[in-house]
Amino acid sequence: MISRRQALVGGGAGVAVVAGSAVAVGVANREKPEPAAPPSTDGKGHTVWRNWSGIQHSYPVQRSAPKDEAELAALLKAGPAPIRVTGAGHSFTGLCATDGTLVSLDAMSGVVGWDGDEATVWAGTRLGALGPALAAKGRAMANLPDINKQSLGGALGTATHGTGRTLKAIHGDVTALTLVTTGGRVIDCDANTRPDVFNAARVSLGSLGIISKARLTTTANRRLRRRVWVEPFEEALEKGEERWKTHRNFEFYAVPFTGLAANISHDETDDPALDRGPDQDTAFLDVLKTLRNLLGFSTGARRAAAKALLGGAKPETAVDEGWKLLSTERPVRFNEMEFHLPAETQLAALKQVVETIEKHRPDVFFPIEVRRIAPDDAWLSPFQGEPRGSVAVHAYYRDDYQFLFELIQPIFVKHGGRPHWGKLHSLKGPDLAALYPRWNDFLDVRRELDPQGRLLNPYLKTLFGL
Ligand SMILES: Cc1cc2nc3c(=O)[nH]c(=O)nc-3n(C[C@H](O)[C@H](O)[C@H](O)COP(=O)(O)OP(=O)(O)OC[C@H]3O[C@@H](n4cnc5c(N)ncnc54)[C@H](O)[C@@H]3O)c2cc1C
Repeated sequence: MISRRQALVGGGAGVAVVAGSAVAVGVANREKPEPAAPPSTDGKGHTVWRNWSGIQHSYPVQRSAPKDEAELAALLKAGPAPIRVTGAGHSFTGLCATDGTLVSLDAMSGVVGWDGDEATVWAGTRLGALGPALAAKGRAMANLPDINKQSLGGALGTATHGTGRTLKAIHGDVTALTLVTTGGRVIDCDANTRPDVFNAARVSLGSLGIISKARLTTTANRRLRRRVWVEPFEEALEKGEERWKTHRNFEFYAVPFTGLAANISHDETDDPALDRGPDQDTAFLDVLKTLRNLLGFSTGARRAAAKALLGGAKPETAVDEGWKLLSTERPVRFNEMEFHLPAETQLAALKQVVETIEKHRPDVFFPIEVRRIAPDDAWLSPFQGEPRGSVAVHAYYRDDYQFLFELIQPIFVKHGGRPHWGKLHSLKGPDLAALYPRWNDFLDVRRELDPQGRLLNPYLKTLFGL
């Protein structure tokens, strides 16, 4: 058996050989030039804001980074509308774009205080900074997403989640929060005090006001053992359900055009730390992209080459504290659509997504991410009321992503999926109202807290109306 690293390094050589023969038969490289960046300033000298993937941009007339709740309240009352708050700008939809006021809570960051094992945290805190701050007290967030660049406010804003059958999305561990409104009110809420605001605000896309701080339950800061292994896709489909039951965290990536899946599990351990080693995910993606570029003309040849290069890799293991292991770096940019499906339809939807891509879109090479999330009761939580299984389809940032709307979204909708609030989808208010039993209650709270719609940019108006 060879390690995944050896397979990838060896893969480079194998791919080079394939490259030679492919060039010889004149196969076109499918990679496209990067789309042109928008001008860095508009005609009036306002500086551009862009999201992480580069597909959203705007020119805010005012940018502010308040230092406390009083400054934030004054800004929300007087700043030019639409007023949008952004954290790390890692959402793919037009949530944060504004030609009015763009607010950053970067100056409101860190742990405010502790109440037993619950930590009150400023909403501008990046998840990556929260890990060490909680670990200093022997505590940790129960779960983390794939990366830890997000702000806490941004993670709550879109119901950001990790994976694990018994683990909720981040907002599911919030027990109280403070919301500052466009009327300049500072509202403290929890399950007993203004429960309507609490239920609406935990996941609210920055459309009710700006969350200044939140109280989070934490868990003991345990070490986890991480395992990564590659196997046939059919086996991953067959064993996925059982693995969600047995592992603390489990997810897998279906790799289209390869017949393979990459599994990742995390389980608690008292074993000593074992280094994860250098990033291999980028090399894995490079191999897949090269196979796409060179063998995209033949699904059979691409599959055979992928199996030879990646199929026999030995499992990898690492041990460390959860906050150091659960999130990784994602240096390769992409655009993404993720829907959260009822657990019982998740894998059927996944199979159809893979079949559709393999039939119609040989340009796709990114693996498809498959996760499970525990339920909670926030009104606009995609996990509201029942466990959900997520399926996320990625398009390399230089590649066309329209197929996500045309081919993939209909499959998710047919299987009862709810879209990730920060990722690509084209559903509008009436579609969403049918998916969320408390949609109208949310709209009532929204109208009460922001009666003039000062927080609504054109994109949010397509979701919530005026
Ligand atoms: C590489 C990458 C990996 C990702 N991995 C995952 C993953 O594993 N799981 C997952 O679920 N998602 C994932 N995402 C999506 C990401 O977690 C969400 O889009 C998240 O909202 C981004 O956080 P942010 O701080 O960048 O927020 P932004 O994108 O800046 O804002 C998101 C929303 O939150 C609102 N908001 C921000 N701060 C506040 C506040 N203080 N009060 C009220 N509203 C606020 C904004 O107005 C906006 O509506 C990933 C995205 C990328 C680019």
